[in-house]
Amino acid sequence: MPNRGTLSLTLALLLVCTAGAAQSLAQPSAQAQVKLPSVVVLATGGTIAGAAESDVQAGYKSGQVGVDQLLAAVPQAKKLANLRGEQVSNIGSQDMNDEVWLKLARRINALAAMPDVDGVVVTHGTDTIEETAYFLNLVVKTRKPVVLTAAMRPSTALSADGPLNFYNAVAIAANREAAGRGVLVVINDWIHGASSLTKTSTTAVQTFLSPLSGLIGTVAYGNAEFYRGPVGRNTLDSEFSLDGVTALPRVDIVMAYENMDGALIDAAAASGAKGIVIAGVGNGNMTQAALTSLAAQAKKGIVCVRSSRVTTGRVGRSVEVDDDKYGFVASLGLNPQKSRVLLRLALTRTKDLKEIQRYFDEY
Ligand code: ASP
Repeated sequence: MPNRGTLSLTLALLLVCTAGAAQSLAQPSAQAQVKLPSVVVLATGGTIAGAAESDVQAGYKSGQVGVDQLLAAVPQAKKLANLRGEQVSNIGSQDMNDEVWLKLARRINALAAMPDVDGVVVTHGTDTIEETAYFLNLVVKTRKPVVLTAAMRPSTALSADGPLNFYNAVAIAANREAAGRGVLVVINDWIHGASSLTKTSTTAVQTFLSPLSGLIGTVAYGNAEFYRGPVGRNTLDSEFSLDGVTALPRVDIVMAYENMDGALIDAAAASGAKGIVIAGVGNGNMTQAALTSLAAQAKKGIVCVRSSRVTTGRVGRSVEVDDDKYGFVASLGLNPQKSRVLLRLALTRTKDLKEIQRYFDEY
């Protein structure tokens, strides 16, 4: 004889099953009802939109294929998200410039504010993608995924890498788990944070590494695995904003080398640079002559940041160069090209060296 508890459990199960059956007769299945996320693709050019005359030639032109062709070339991505595209520019990223940066950042902010947009993909060239990603990481104001992607081989090449990179980028932009991890770069199955990635090979498909902090995650045919959050403050947590900014201050990068004199440092100052980043040898070092010129420019009010031409490792404050004595800022974990991005944004707010050093600490 079943007891009262067993009876009421059986009754409850029966009710659930009957309700489920009635619902499945009356309505389409839950799967058919799932609404795809909406992702907007902003195309800027690069090799991903490049074309060559044959599929096995090294020479090609970046920025030849429009955003509609890009979308049409990867129909599989339409199963991941409702996609629409906009052409922001169509240039090789060696020509990336402030006009495109400001337009792109403002467009992303506008799109991210729309309730019916779930994520944004930016197609870009590989040459300066790390700079654009880091810039956007500091000035876009959203938790929604903003994902940059690129390709090392043009769209017409044998084994072009663009289509799968694009597919993976759309998958990450449509993935809720990607939200709140800062601006991401998805390329060659890896998910990089904007502050960590750098281009390490001129031609290899496996060119991007995140040498200091490692990957945010990996993605295989759209299936993501996330390992961690971003390094450094970003997006909604960033103090930087483009509100009221119409132009960014000039900051030049000068590379250090054996027997260097101060001529290029002085030339940067004479060209109107408000900041100078030294891509120093080793731990942000330079010859005595370069140091003397840099210190003289720092005294005149040009903000001077010591970074390194070495691909990995940090530039510590006052290790071999006395930053306090000379009035320099140490780049810490940022390479010269990203130090330049941060310094340009820093100079839109302050010239105070302590405050600028804090930015390098926190971003
Ligand atoms: N020069 C190209 C660019 O940055 C290289 C690439 O996209 O891979 O646009």
